[in-house]
Amino acid sequence: MSRGLLMVVSGPSGTGKGTVCGELLAQTPELAYSISATTRKPREGEVDGKNYYFMDKAQFEKMIEEGGFLEYANVYGNYYGTPLGKIEERLAAGEDILLEIDTQGALNVMKKCPDGLFIFLLPPSIGELERRIRGRGSETAESLAKRLGAAKEEIAIGRKYGYVVVNDTVKRAVERIKSIMVAEHCRVDKNYDIFEELEQ
Ligand code: 5GP
Repeated sequence: MSRGLLMVVSGPSGTGKGTVCGELLAQTPELAYSISATTRKPREGEVDGKNYYFMDKAQFEKMIEEGGFLEYANVYGNYYGTPLGKIEERLAAGEDILLEIDTQGALNVMKKCPDGLFIFLLPPSIGELERRIRGRGSETAESLAKRLGAAKEEIAIGRKYGYVVVNDTVKRAVERIKSIMVAEHCRVDKNYDIFEELEQ
């Protein structure tokens, strides 16, 4: 049994991470989604324990103190974090795990888990990114400018990742990510057990 992939998908706000990851999960039943914890309030339709583990600041800070997170970050004034849970055991058992997190969190995972698979999602253009952020409808002119400025700064961080995927269409972005996963599973350093078995 080869080790599972710790797959991190992130990118600037408005790149469509959520949609791409949702479609990837729907097409890849064996891929497990790591449910994050957050202190932000649930949005309409979001379910505790499915979309996020919703908690208050005190609960979140207690979990930080107890070393309960693989990584956590403060994104737009709320905490978000990846519960350590049984990630290591699950990877050892061959399970592929998807983390859809922000760039600060991804940089922290790179330090802790350098053998992870880091995929940076990009919008096809800045104009398209602006259109997508505007399309959410929840932005004032000021917060739109803030998000766009932050997104441009975040794009530079993408150079630290292993792979970059342009989200021109969701279908193509998902196909590229699935291809990357297949390639990653075929890496020699992920398959020493096959050599050992054949060489016995
Ligand atoms: P939203 O509030 O729109 O669901 O998410 C806001 C941002 O937080 C997104 O960029 C999302 O990827 C990021 N995020 C979600 N979960 C986590 C997590 O566990 N850790 C980190 N660092 N970021 C997260």
